[in-house]
Amino acid sequence: MASLNDIRSTFLNYFEKQGHQIVPSSPLVPRNDPTLMFVNSGMVQFKNLFTGVERRDYQRATTAQKCVRAGGKHNDLDNVGYTARHHTFFEMLGNFSFGDYFKNEAIPFAWELVTKEFGIDPKRLLTTVYHTDDEAFEIWKKVGVPEDRIIRIDTSDNFWQMGPTGPCGPCTEIFYDHGDHIWGGPPGSADEDGDRFIEIWNVVFMQNEQFEDGSMKALDMQSIDTGMGLERIGALLQGSHDNYDTDTMRALIEASAHASSADPDGPGKMHHRVIADHLRSTSFLIADGVMPSNDGRGYVLRRIMRRAMRHAHLLGAQDPMMHKLVPALVRQMGGAYPELQRGQAMIEETLLLEETRFKQTLDRGLKLLDDELADLPEDAPLPGEAAFKLYDTYGFPLDLTQDALREKGRFVDTDGFDAAMAEQKAKARAAWSGSGEAADATVWFDIAEKHGATDFLGYDTEEAEGQI
Ligand code: ATP
Ligand code: MG
Ligand code: MG
Ligand code: MG
Repeated sequence: MASLNDIRSTFLNYFEKQGHQIVPSSPLVPRNDPTLMFVNSGMVQFKNLFTGVERRDYQRATTAQKCVRAGGKHNDLDNVGYTARHHTFFEMLGNFSFGDYFKNEAIPFAWELVTKEFGIDPKRLLTTVYHTDDEAFEIWKKVGVPEDRIIRIDTSDNFWQMGPTGPCGPCTEIFYDHGDHIWGGPPGSADEDGDRFIEIWNVVFMQNEQFEDGSMKALDMQSIDTGMGLERIGALLQGSHDNYDTDTMRALIEASAHASSADPDGPGKMHHRVIADHLRSTSFLIADGVMPSNDGRGYVLRRIMRRAMRHAHLLGAQDPMMHKLVPALVRQMGGAYPELQRGQAMIEETLLLEETRFKQTLDRGLKLLDDELADLPEDAPLPGEAAFKLYDTYGFPLDLTQDALREKGRFVDTDGFDAAMAEQKAKARAAWSGSGEAADATVWFDIAEKHGATDFLGYDTEEAEGQI
């Protein structure tokens, strides 16, 4: 059975044979791009090549790109543990053409790789095209996809934009039908969010440029940008619809089971899945230089770490355990990503320190949460002041409290939470202005409010690029 490491190589080698330069993954923290929290697709490192601002000595490239989608426009944090196909960290396999080949080559490349190299049964595949893209429709027909399996979609799912302005164009996606034993409907249907029809590959045709006045013109340089999730194609090739059944994810789940002495497939199954996922995102972020903190990228990392730690707690782990899983991750992925080996000691220490600290308040916070809920009617939301107290006194990021409540079918009064936060800020401001240094204080609070002193979650940053 091909491992994820084998599948990554097959992909890169296939495109190398088609004249593509194999380019290493860029780090997860985008260079010179404050608008984007983390790299979330393969095209990010090539942005300037698509716009023609930069040229390199290759016009075709292929990559396996580290991606994190845990904040901003693409946030899959809440999907983890609930869908079979989402991670916060995943690898996106891609091939790119910078003004070189276009639709006529890109579609046959994708089809040949999937059906010949990977040997996937074409009868299980469906494709989607943007509703007006007759050209793509015809090319799919030509490679042998029956017309009734080419679905025209008129939503933004099949029209890609780098941002409000700039390069854009229609895209086409390949879906695999895992069969009617799994819930879900075909793309474009009401049940498309299920896991039966899983999107494996997205191919973008950059052919237009969008201007501020709303007009659009054809680009001189037509380009290709594609992305396929390694874990999704891996699950398929390893005989499952579920990313968490792949060899790499399974090894991490086993490590979690071992460290917590909780059956990997027992009642704690979901916790092991979340832990395995969050282990990867946190470790890769630390390896790329992000450290847990109270704002910006560091706070996103902290939120992911603490969520994982709550799940470890629910498995009954008495002692910190996340750091114990790092060797398994390094065994699985350290060959392809040597930064994990180099960073191993740092990753382990950071996890251990954070978990040791958070453990001091986690138990008491969870107890407070249970007590609060016990006093409320079944359908009442958790009052905002309680969620704020958990945040302020016990170090519970809001989304951790929400994650805990979701399992019980409950939710937080977020307006109340915001109000409690605003009230605390106002109090702090009042306390400050009494100090006689009002001018300085005002400046400080303006900065804090603009950039977020403690509560910058990264949710509101306008992420223009990086989506496929
Ligand atoms: P979905 O609709 O399933 O959320 P998407 O349309 O958001 O996927 P794209 O932005 O098109 O995904 O990314 C390209 C490819 O990357 C997808 O076709 C999929 O194979 C993979 N992918 C996207 N998000 C994730 C994720 N959170 N975890 C694992 N793989 C992903
Ligand atoms: Mg998505
Ligand atoms: Mg999609
Ligand atoms: Mg897509």
